[in-house]
Amino acid sequence: MRELTKNDTADAAGQRAAIVNALNKAIEKLCSHAEETFGEVITDALRTIADAMNVNRIVFYRHVEVDGEDRLKQTYRWDKAINGLTEKSLDFLPNNQAIAGWLKTLRQNVSVNQQLCDWSSDELEFMNQFGIKSVFMAPIFTHGKFWGCVIFQDHINERFFSEDYAELMRSAAFLFVNAIIRAEMERETITALFEAQEANCAKSEFLSRMSHEILTPMNVIMGMTHILKMSGGSDETKKYLEEIDAASRYLLRLINDLLDISGKNNSAFTIASSVFDFNKIFREILKDVSCDVMKKRQTLNFGIDPSIPMLLFGDKKRLAQVITNLLTNASKFTPENGKIHFSAYVLSKDNETITLQIEITDNGIGIPKEKQNEIFSAFDLVDVSLTSKYSGAGLGLPISKLIVEMMGGKIWVDSEHGKGSKFTFTCKLHKRPPAVTGNS
Ligand code: ADP
Repeated sequence: MRELTKNDTADAAGQRAAIVNALNKAIEKLCSHAEETFGEVITDALRTIADAMNVNRIVFYRHVEVDGEDRLKQTYRWDKAINGLTEKSLDFLPNNQAIAGWLKTLRQNVSVNQQLCDWSSDELEFMNQFGIKSVFMAPIFTHGKFWGCVIFQDHINERFFSEDYAELMRSAAFLFVNAIIRAEMERETITALFEAQEANCAKSEFLSRMSHEILTPMNVIMGMTHILKMSGGSDETKKYLEEIDAASRYLLRLINDLLDISGKNNSAFTIASSVFDFNKIFREILKDVSCDVMKKRQTLNFGIDPSIPMLLFGDKKRLAQVITNLLTNASKFTPENGKIHFSAYVLSKDNETITLQIEITDNGIGIPKEKQNEIFSAFDLVDVSLTSKYSGAGLGLPISKLIVEMMGGKIWVDSEHGKGSKFTFTCKLHKRPPAVTGNS
């Protein structure tokens, strides 16, 4: 045997430095794969390591249990000849004595690394079958569990990997497996997210279809109730019809809210524009809510700024929807004989647009400070114990917020628990038909 010379030591130190350098480069590559795909990054990092270690194949085997037996299944393979990473899903290492011996060693967190002359005949058979001259197997443990191993193969030279090499190969193997696990987890997260989004869309579609189905008979019920109310009858019958009418109007609003909320994430939720008379719209809203107000013997005062132009352009139905919702809530959450005030005035204007500010004030139950932001999120009721005597689905305010924001405005509440609330919103309307944009 030849004695180690100074040159040999210098060579070994140089090689070690080259491998450490390659490992650093690989880490850098794996940590910054912002623009390239993960496949490209890991292939590049694997090539850097393989070149530094002078191996021509790096294979990843995952540990699996098949019929109660421990097996190693090939998951990825990098080949110098093609400089590519292949994803495998079926290749198992043979279930023979040689492999069982290696698996036992690896599971004890010990690498498999020996010279060709030390291989058993079983092991040699395996090596010859794949044309392997030298091999190093690094065990991988993640979170204290045996994950599998990474096998570095040299198909050209017979050699034994020194302790220095072995240590660096183990580090590299660990680094690669972690990068692969992270990429798989990212892939799984994206798939799960996609599935959740699909399920959400399906749910919205179902909700929308069902709401449409309920809408048709609902309109019939409302129409027939109206006809019956017009055709006279005893006071008792009129009272019952009034109840049916109020319940139907509530149900209709709920169905429309459900349609809005299910269409919130798609094109079904839109803002239209047509000419309207603000005062006329307000009178129609008053007709709609006066029933509730009168029933509770509440006072409803209003003040409308006379400088609001007679005719405005915007979505009158959506604007009416927000005002109706706020007035209905004001009546609902204010006890009998309470007071409600409505006011509308011009906040600002320019040549084309006019911004209105609308305020609805009541002296009802009020809203605790900590809940005042939450009521604008879908399905938030302030406190079931507080509001249980008032029915509600918690959809009106989130939808109002959506509408107001689509109309270029804001909505907020000032309230004192037990004293009352003031809901304010702004919205931008047009003085003349807004210009049509896009290609025509
Ligand atoms: P709904 O009225 O159908 O429950 P909303 O989204 O319109 O749904 O209102 C959400 C919640 O905000 C209500 O359940 C209630 O707790 C609270 N709220 C809304 N308006 C008022 C108000 N004027 N006074 C007190 N609480 C209110």
